[in-house]
Amino acid sequence: QWARVRARLQAEVGEVEYRTWLKQVALAGVAGDEVTVILPTRFLRDWVNKEYGELITAFWQAENPAIRNVEIRTGTQTRGTAPSLAEASAPVQALAPAAAPAQPARPDSAAPLDQRFTFDTFVVGKPNEFAYACARRVAEAPATPGFNPLFLYGGVGLGKTHLMHAIAWELSNRGNGRAPASVAYMSAEKFMYRFINALRSQSTLEFKNELRSVDVLMIDDLQFLIGKDNTQEEFFHTFNALVDAGKQIVISADKSPSDLSGLEDRLRTRLGCGMVADLHATTFELRYSILEAKAQRAGVEVPAKVLEFLARKITTNNRELEGALNRLVAHANLFNRPLTMETAHEVLHDVLRAHDRKISIQEIQKKVSEHYNIRVSEMSSARRARNIARPRQIAMYLAKQLTSKSLPDIGRHFGDRDHTTVMHAVNRVTELIAQDVAFAEDVDLLRRTLES
Ligand code: ADP
Ligand code: MG
Repeated sequence: QWARVRARLQAEVGEVEYRTWLKQVALAGVAGDEVTVILPTRFLRDWVNKEYGELITAFWQAENPAIRNVEIRTGTQTRGTAPSLAEASAPVQALAPAAAPAQPARPDSAAPLDQRFTFDTFVVGKPNEFAYACARRVAEAPATPGFNPLFLYGGVGLGKTHLMHAIAWELSNRGNGRAPASVAYMSAEKFMYRFINALRSQSTLEFKNELRSVDVLMIDDLQFLIGKDNTQEEFFHTFNALVDAGKQIVISADKSPSDLSGLEDRLRTRLGCGMVADLHATTFELRYSILEAKAQRAGVEVPAKVLEFLARKITTNNRELEGALNRLVAHANLFNRPLTMETAHEVLHDVLRAHDRKISIQEIQKKVSEHYNIRVSEMSSARRARNIARPRQIAMYLAKQLTSKSLPDIGRHFGDRDHTTVMHAVNRVTELIAQDVAFAEDVDLLRRTLES
């Protein structure tokens, strides 16, 4: 079973993350409905617990539905050759704050909240300011008409879970004489497991009553319910009961309600009838600010050059960005060395290589032409019509960003243009990215398809 859980974890999080964080998880034992796994250091334990605890539990439950809990502890393997690091020799504290605030009182079925995910720690920029404002609004005045349900959507790692936890923290700690609200936050996956367990133990009534007694229900990653018809049905009824009773609902998903094909139409319609807020792909500026804020909170000095390097290189999502920074910080702490560009290159070798696959100018030209529906030959043509010149500039910009070719070199690939033309294209596209979110997203999408 453990082997299968591991394999699923590996498939889920990807090779790099798995090797960095999860490979050292060892099975200590299964007793009754509880599984215990161990990690060699407190740092790793906390990290794995926060980042992967739910996933590990979910996968165990999928293997063996009798499992109720997975306990993550520190310890060393008795068998095997894994080196045993003593606790004292691992003073590595990455970005986890020292004292954990008490978890607010919530229904049993809710998942614990991550204390790092608050409004204070959320960095606001153009791509997420609208979603942030909506989340703030709901936290201040839940169930305001027009904001119920609040539907947050966007790609992986763009901050949906962070914002949901922030709302939950805010509501369950609110002061000014306002009673804390009772908030249930859980992933859609968890919702399904709870529901199925309730069915199995014939306690669906308790389950329903419990969920319907909360002030605010938050379901994360709703796309998980696609194809799970019974759970969807149950969710739909819970949803209606809560909204009818004037309670707030917050949902996240990877797509907008109308794009979540596979969810029942009546559910999609209801999901979209409150406030729908999109978390856009990050920009360089936002990535930089996030890194800066995280480094500052961790109390580590990271040279601007290193931050800039990370913000340029790791464009996929904020989680990977944070993971990379964490590794740097952990490394610097462990070896008590200042962070330099050399350390960054060294530590992030594998991460960067994954992002650094050799991309050719021809490949870029082909992708960009396809994307804008023009002929590849236009990349080298002399035509200056905007619908052709703009894609050409974007291709030059991407060539500069994604390859190590010099400006004159790039110019040669574009119908023998000289380096000042390329320079101009790069500047123009950079400007447009800063001014226009939709444009920035388009370019980012191209970059990501090229990088993947
Ligand atoms: P999602 O749920 O959309 O996949 P998360 O909310 O889990 O993404 O975010 C992934 C990681 O990136 C988290 O550690 C989160 O704190 C961090 N993160 C995302 N957006 C921001 C932001 N705007 N400011 C600070 N941290 C962020
Ligand atoms: Mg999430």
